[in-house]
Amino acid sequence: MLIVVSSPSGGGKGTLIQRVRRTVPGLSYSVSWTTRQPRPGEVEGRDYHFVSREEFERMRDSGGFLEWALVHGNYYGTAWSEVERAQRAGLDVILEIDVQGAANVRRLASDAVTIFILPPSFEVLRERLTRRGSEALPDLELRLRNARSEVERYREFEYIILNDDVERAAQQLAAVIYAERARRQRQEAIVTRVLATFPPNAQEAF
Ligand code: 5GP
Repeated sequence: MLIVVSSPSGGGKGTLIQRVRRTVPGLSYSVSWTTRQPRPGEVEGRDYHFVSREEFERMRDSGGFLEWALVHGNYYGTAWSEVERAQRAGLDVILEIDVQGAANVRRLASDAVTIFILPPSFEVLRERLTRRGSEALPDLELRLRNARSEVERYREFEYIILNDDVERAAQQLAAVIYAERARRQRQEAIVTRVLATFPPNAQEAF
C-alpha cells in the first residue's frame, strides 16, 4: 500500500509520520531525493538523499523517479528503488510529498491512500515555521506564500487530518492506515486462505 501524506511546509507531517512509524508495525518510509541544501541536523540517507541539480536531472531523465516535482524552488523526487525495496519486504510505504507529487502518484497508482495534514490556521503555520528556524527569511516567506494554494487542493485527498493536537492527529493517522489495511480489496488473499480451511460441504465437518 502506498500512503501519501501531504501538507504545507510547517504543517507538522514530519512529526506525525515519525510517531506513526514508532507505533504502527509494517511501515516503511521512502527517503526522497532533493536538490535542497541540508539543514543543520539533517542526515544524508535518513532525511533525504541530497544531490546536485545535475545528478537529479540525470536520475529523472533515466526514469529513476516514480514522481518528482519542483517545490519552493528545489527539485524533490521519489525513487522507484525506494518503493520497490519496501514492496519486496512486504511493507506499506509512506511518501511524505507535496501536493503535485500526490497528484502524480494518484495518476500512477489509483489505489494509493492520500492524506492531507491540515494546520489549524495560517498563524499556527507561520509560528511553527518561524520557531523551527530552518529557513532563511525569503525561503520561509516563499513557503508561507505557497501554503494557501496547497491547502486549496484539499479536495484531491481522501483523508484530511487536522493537526491541532499532535497526539490526537497521530492517532487519527494510525487509524486511517489500519482501516485502509482492512479494506476488502486488500484482504482477498487472506480470505481465500481462510476459506480453504473450510470443508466445501459444511455437513462433512461434523
Ligand atoms: P522540505 O524542504 O521542507 O523538506 O520539503 C518541502 C516540500 O517538498 C514538502 O512539502 C515535502 O513534503 C515535499 N517533498 C519532499 N520529498 C518529496 C518528493 O520526493 N516528492 C515531492 N513531490 N515532494 C516532496
